[in-house]
Amino acid sequence: MESHLFHVYECESCILTFAVEQAFEDHAEVVCPICKSDESLKDVASGAMKLEQNKKPTRRGEL
Ligand SMILES: [Zn+2]
Repeated sequence: MESHLFHVYECESCILTFAVEQAFEDHAEVVCPICKSDESLKDVASGAMKLEQNKKPTRRGEL
């Protein structure tokens, strides 16, 4: 499993919360996807997200 670092931002003018991967942040400026501006952005949280690489298909009837 690979873990990805990310930051959670909140745009106070759009009332929108979104997460940005740290790897992306290093290369590009973070802006709100709606107003395309960073003026009302607040860094509210950060953490690591684990992404599963190989997902096995689940068999039907199996819980
Ligand atoms: Zn916005």
